[in-house]
Amino acid sequence: MFTESMGIECGCVVGGAGPAGMGLLFNALKSGTLAALARDGLIIVDSSPTPGAGCLGDYRITANSVGDVFLDCLRHPALREIFEPLEGALAYWRVRYQAQSALPLPDIGQLLTEASSLFFEHIVNHYGVKLWHSSTITQVVADSEGYEVWVEHEGHLHCIRSRTLVLNLGGRQDSQYLLDGLADQGLYVPPSASIHSADRLLRMNSVQLRQQFADALASDKGITLVGGSHSAFSMLENLADALEFAGLKTLNLVHRSPIRLFYESAEEARQSGYVFNPQQDVCPVTGRINRSGGLRYRARDVGRAAVERGRVGNTGVSVRLLSTREDREAVQQALADSCMVVQCTGYQPRLPVLMRRDGSMISLREAKGGLDSDPGGCPIDEHGLRLHGLHLFGLGAGLGVDPSLGSEASFDGRIYGVWQFHHDASRAVIEAVLERLRYKSREIDVAAPNLVERLENGLPFLFPGFAGIKA
Ligand SMILES: Cc1cc2nc3c(=O)[nH]c(=O)nc-3n(C[C@H](O)[C@H](O)[C@H](O)COP(=O)(O)OP(=O)(O)OC[C@H]3O[C@@H](n4cnc5c(N)ncnc54)[C@H](O)[C@@H]3O)c2cc1C
Repeated sequence: MFTESMGIECGCVVGGAGPAGMGLLFNALKSGTLAALARDGLIIVDSSPTPGAGCLGDYRITANSVGDVFLDCLRHPALREIFEPLEGALAYWRVRYQAQSALPLPDIGQLLTEASSLFFEHIVNHYGVKLWHSSTITQVVADSEGYEVWVEHEGHLHCIRSRTLVLNLGGRQDSQYLLDGLADQGLYVPPSASIHSADRLLRMNSVQLRQQFADALASDKGITLVGGSHSAFSMLENLADALEFAGLKTLNLVHRSPIRLFYESAEEARQSGYVFNPQQDVCPVTGRINRSGGLRYRARDVGRAAVERGRVGNTGVSVRLLSTREDREAVQQALADSCMVVQCTGYQPRLPVLMRRDGSMISLREAKGGLDSDPGGCPIDEHGLRLHGLHLFGLGAGLGVDPSLGSEASFDGRIYGVWQFHHDASRAVIEAVLERLRYKSREIDVAAPNLVERLENGLPFLFPGFAGIKA
């Protein structure tokens, strides 16, 4: 039975504490802005009992950056004392010992979970932050003052009124989105074929994959992957590894943009015999090749072998790379001959019900690869109105390229990535949230006592155990 508790108020809700939400919180502590962020009350809400790593550790693939990139997110004088106990943690040493290698994502997930647990303990004790874990945001109501965030915890419904809401609940892959994208190019998936989300398949082990694809292998129909990114090539390798000995001979991979590879420099690319466009593919700030859109590490090796030898990694499985621009007829034939299509194309943000005070629903305007938002992740609605105080930048939402930080001209997608969440991506979000809180605080200073005092002393608070961390 759902019951309704009295609402509480705060300045900021961080909804979703996966790599994006955590990146913002870590960055706030590192930049000395966490106290200001928490001044009017800061509540972190996440549906997981042990928040911190989000879905990242669930994917059975290799990271697209070396271990040191993740360690770099934890490396800062302000974090040194907090993370001292990590020295005794296996998860930390596993990454540290192989800091220059791209590691399996489950190892990275473990590191982020352990670091986040220490981090929560610190900010709850020192900054009065509240952590509501095992709590699911179901609905958000927007009005001119801010956001009403409805949260479900153990069958009870609670309401938080917040001036600002940082909402990163991860991404989802919608099969209709794939069908629409193909239809825009005049391509169709036959009704007899089933569409499967790579997001789900990438979490499966070989045994599970063999079960999933058993019927396809027993038939004379094909399997086609759609997408050309890190997850598409990781999916390709996972399928070849798992299914080769069950009889898989060939996979199709359908992509729209050219397959691009990442290199640290033009020199490195040339030495590897990789042909790139010096105008389109080079980042003017770093000199890197395909810095934002190129395949890296294991996915790059798989991509290279696919392009050069038509093989998937070290397996005997062959792959047909088919471009929707150059091989349209072959693409349509491959789709028509397939009984399973694997969706490896982009993500949409996972959102709760979003509505206005008058009950009308809000839909957020999309851009290629994510949401149409400003540099602080503040989105606009279907009427073109900006939703001030709402910020999204994680999986499915992303941020546009900041020209001052650089990228390659050929990349027109959105930026995602743990390091970005901990650095450039969340910096602008923190500034925007603080600006809105400052504006409100000026009003409150004259009109009413500090909201933190109201939160701690006045209003009935809350779920027992939520003052600290249970998990
Ligand atoms: C296959 C794949 C591989 C990737 N590999 C890399 C990589 O190697 N390196 C890299 O830097 N980036 C990588 N990324 C990109 C990105 O960094 C990750 O996807 C990252 O996990 C995104 O973080 P997030 O916080 O946006 O979402 P998530 O990781 O999905 O986290 C969302 C959080 O929200 C919570 N949540 C969900 N719904 C609710 C709700 N209703 N109420 C409350 N809480 C909720 C969840 O419990 C979770 O903690 C990869 C992405 C994919 C898809």
